[in-house]
Amino acid sequence: MGTKNAQDRAPGVWEHKAVQSTRRIGLLLAMSLLALLSITFAAEASTLSPGTIDLRGDALTDGLVDLDGEWEFYWEQLLEPEDFRNESHEMVGYVSVPGAWNGYQVQEQDFPGQGYATYRVEIKIAEGQQLLGIHLPRILTAYRLWINGEPAAAAGEVGRVREDVTPQYLPRQVFFYPAGSTVELIIQTANFHHRSGGILESIQFGTADQVQAATHRRLAYDLFLFGGLFLMGIYHLVLFFYRRSERSLLYFGLFCILVSIRTLFVGQIFFIQQFPNLNWELAHKIQTLTYYVGVHVIILFFRGVFPSYVSPTLVRVSSVVVATFSTLVLFLPARQFTVFNPLFQVFTLLVIGYVISVLLRVSRRREAGTVFIVTGAAVLFLTVGNDILYLSILRSDYHAFQHVVRMGNLSALGMLAFVFTHSLVLAITFSQAFKKNEEMTLELASINDNLETTVARRTKDLVAANSRVEAQKLELEAANRSLATLSFKDPLTGLWNRRRFEESLDHEWKRALRTGDSLSLIFVDIDDFKAFNDQHGHLAGDECLQKVAQMLEKSVNRAGDIVVRYGGEEFVVLLPATPRIGAAQIAEGIREGVRDLRIPQAASVEGEFVTVTLGVATVVPTWERSPQGLVEASDRAMYVAKEKGKNRVELVVLDAAEAVAESPS
Ligand code: GH3
Ligand code: MG
Ligand code: MG
Repeated sequence: MGTKNAQDRAPGVWEHKAVQSTRRIGLLLAMSLLALLSITFAAEASTLSPGTIDLRGDALTDGLVDLDGEWEFYWEQLLEPEDFRNESHEMVGYVSVPGAWNGYQVQEQDFPGQGYATYRVEIKIAEGQQLLGIHLPRILTAYRLWINGEPAAAAGEVGRVREDVTPQYLPRQVFFYPAGSTVELIIQTANFHHRSGGILESIQFGTADQVQAATHRRLAYDLFLFGGLFLMGIYHLVLFFYRRSERSLLYFGLFCILVSIRTLFVGQIFFIQQFPNLNWELAHKIQTLTYYVGVHVIILFFRGVFPSYVSPTLVRVSSVVVATFSTLVLFLPARQFTVFNPLFQVFTLLVIGYVISVLLRVSRRREAGTVFIVTGAAVLFLTVGNDILYLSILRSDYHAFQHVVRMGNLSALGMLAFVFTHSLVLAITFSQAFKKNEEMTLELASINDNLETTVARRTKDLVAANSRVEAQKLELEAANRSLATLSFKDPLTGLWNRRRFEESLDHEWKRALRTGDSLSLIFVDIDDFKAFNDQHGHLAGDECLQKVAQMLEKSVNRAGDIVVRYGGEEFVVLLPATPRIGAAQIAEGIREGVRDLRIPQAASVEGEFVTVTLGVATVVPTWERSPQGLVEASDRAMYVAKEKGKNRVELVVLDAAEAVAESPS
């Protein structure tokens, strides 16, 4: 999880920090362990002779004393103080306390786990009226205690057969005033519910204050662990709720909660202190199941964090093993399933070995973040290993272990260390992710800004290009327009050309068809122009054409009138909505106007100036007629005029069936 993200980070500074923090964590852990030692380690009592523990002198000044040593042992006898005074008992021998009686061998005799027995020990103390105390751990699995002949404490019901025995784990304290220099402890125990029987943990002795203080410390320790782990568990589960993709958060949260629950069922067994009537079998099942399931969950966790390192086979094997053992726990009584427990402990040690090898391989990558997980896990595994060795049957079977591994229930503390380092990784990963997020947001913002300027620049460019195109388009349109105009103009005279004339004629013809107006056309031809050219040359001829053209333009003034160079020295004037009379007047005006230009022409019929002959045709357009007829009529009228002697106007009216020619002059 965290470590995967950690890969992306730049090493260097970060790793240095990680190493520093790891050192600090190490220091913290060492200090916690030391604190723990002061709780758990108690002075060892010296044994005068078997069955007697000597606590005279200053034995009690350093704190609680473990009443470890050789105790009198009466197998299959439930003896009371009375019985010792009557001498009506038979001692099997001395056994070493703490220890499970199925581990004992006294006078070649082995003992089964199931059965009942009485322990007795005498403690020599200095005289004094100080209130003393004894801390009793859980005793398997029921007991009665007499101190100096007085019943002092009990847990469960002691009996000679299973039916008579009620098991109960109930660590507790008893206080008493000593009478003299000897304290006699008689403990009846019976076990028909667990694999092992007897006093498996040290009974502790001290002043009342010492016992009480130790009890408070133990409870505080257990509840601290429970609270810390439980909260961490909830915290990780909530995290998982919001980040479903991070499965390792779920496993980690579950693991924390399992271990926290287990904390209440081991150590001071706070849960039973609160609910003494809780069924012993049920409590034992809960305690064992949290352990079994916890192993599987932690494997899933490591698989989630280091997927490429943890083999899926391990996960499969573990699920089968854990499911099998858990089923045994669920359906068998404790005395049966506790027999299999050492097997599961072996499995746990194998898993630990495997995960340690994974962590070694992972830590070779020297990644930030892994340092924490590896450190935390190392502490966890050391403590779990310790607990297994301490609480396992190994310890009671092989006495030597008793002195090597003295502390039980350290794994919860290891767990806390592990949770702590893991939370550290999580916090670091999250804050890094947050930082990255912020950086990316900033980057994105700047990209956005740039985008805006880029877009703005591009837009500006586009607008400029657009207006250029617009201007070009306007230019092009103007050019097109003038080109179009040009194509309708006669280059020499600047008059409209014949093409334009055809269009206009057609247009005016249709309009006149609608309005019923008459349409007139004047056909103009310069007289003897061939001769003019011959005499004055072509250039002068062109000049003459231009002058006549100007004159023609001047002679018409209505908007619809158009003057056209029809060809060579021939012109037409189209007069829309103009009746015969009006057209005749204009034609006459033109004739006079040209003559008045006084362009010299030697060969002119009229005299020395250029003249024109005009034919005028007027028509009210109908669907039976064509515009072409109008042109032909005016052309014909002009020829008539030529024949009559040029320099004159000839009229033709097409209203009648035949053209009526008349000369206005
Ligand atoms: P009429 O009085 O019977 O009309 O005799 P005309 O000589 O004017 O008639 P014709 O059709 O025989 O001759 C027309 C002449 O006009 C022929 C040509 O030399 C001249 N002409 C035609 N177009 C141009 C032109 O663009 N420039 C010049 N300079 N002369 C032209
Ligand atoms: Mg002509
Ligand atoms: Mg002519």
